Amino acid sequence: MAKPLEYNATLVEREDLTSALGVFRIRPDEALPGTGSWFVPGQYMVLGLNNEVKVELGGVRRPMSIASAPERRDLVEFYIRYVERPESDNPFTHLLWTRKAGDRMYVRVHPTGKFTVPDTVGIDDRRIKVCVAAGTGLAPFLSMVRSEVNQDPRRSLADYVIIHGASYSADLGYRDELEALVRNHGLHYLPTVSRPQQDPNWRGHSGRAESFFGPGRIDGLEDLLGLPRGGFLPSAVQILICGLQGTIGQCIESLVPRGFVPDNRKIRRALEIADDLKPTIFYEAYDTIPPIDLEDAPRVAGLKAAFHAAHSATRSAL
Ligand SMILES: Cc1cc2nc3c(=O)[nH]c(=O)nc-3n(C[C@H](O)[C@H](O)[C@H](O)COP(=O)(O)OP(=O)(O)OC[C@H]3O[C@@H](n4cnc5c(N)ncnc54)[C@H](O)[C@@H]3O)c2cc1C
Repeated sequence: MAKPLEYNATLVEREDLTSALGVFRIRPDEALPGTGSWFVPGQYMVLGLNNEVKVELGGVRRPMSIASAPERRDLVEFYIRYVERPESDNPFTHLLWTRKAGDRMYVRVHPTGKFTVPDTVGIDDRRIKVCVAAGTGLAPFLSMVRSEVNQDPRRSLADYVIIHGASYSADLGYRDELEALVRNHGLHYLPTVSRPQQDPNWRGHSGRAESFFGPGRIDGLEDLLGLPRGGFLPSAVQILICGLQGTIGQCIESLVPRGFVPDNRKIRRALEIADDLKPTIFYEAYDTIPPIDLEDAPRVAGLKAAFHAAHSATRSAL
């Protein structure tokens, strides 16, 4: 039996966006640091709950990206999906969905993780950051743009693109806030719905988040960003992806033929990417499936050929 967790935090607010998607605001008992940046946007904390019905199952803990900005010190916000078909016998989200404001829970207060601007694209890099969020994978990017504006209320967010994919428009959490960042700070925000036929009032983009990089559609991104045709390249853009394997894998497959370099040792090795080439695709996976099946020899060979063709084209253009 997993040991029961000792609770050290309170769920202070719960906002249900749909029956399976919620914003959870949690206050740890331990006061959050009063000054300075106490975490870096993009990091996560570990949340935990005990199964109080099937007590023998004990406690379960799961990492969750922090959606709030570090400047917020009264509570920590999380954007969480109820997982319909979990893998474990004591799924965290099934316990969380039984909880209400005022209930106690466990939080590992020390934020962790390297899916941050300083640890990926770098704070001084001038290239556009294209952030691809599948579902609740929006959380780290929300924390990043919220913090940028908290630190400098006049900050232009024109160097950030947030592509947010969801099944239905009702699942596009934080839309109002992101649209306000478009109006007031020049953020590029591209919400997209993958089941528009079941969402008759939706008039926006359709398809999954990764479909923006598909044939014919990348031109639209180039126009939006003021890049020349064919200019959506690692010299102008870096990519950050957060979500499940399908999105991460498809983004990598679409962008490697443009010369983007995934920040993953095994993929780099399989594609024979030289060590001195800096990564330009960074990702945080919410599941454990490898984004690219490296056992699939024909697919790997195709990607490798496309990557090296892109690089020799760039070299001969210099
Ligand atoms: C660094 C990190 C940060 C994370 N941050 C978040 C977050 O901010 N919000 C969030 O909702 N989840 C987040 N997750 C996923 C989370 O930790 C759990 O895996 C998820 O809540 C399922 O846990 P469970 O115990 O209910 O189900 P489990 O029995 O553990 O089932 C796991 C399966 O759930 C599926 N799954 C996991 N996450 C999601 C998701 N977000 N949407 C749909 N299906 C999913 C995957 O297929 C996975 O294989 C994060 C994961 C990691 C590694």
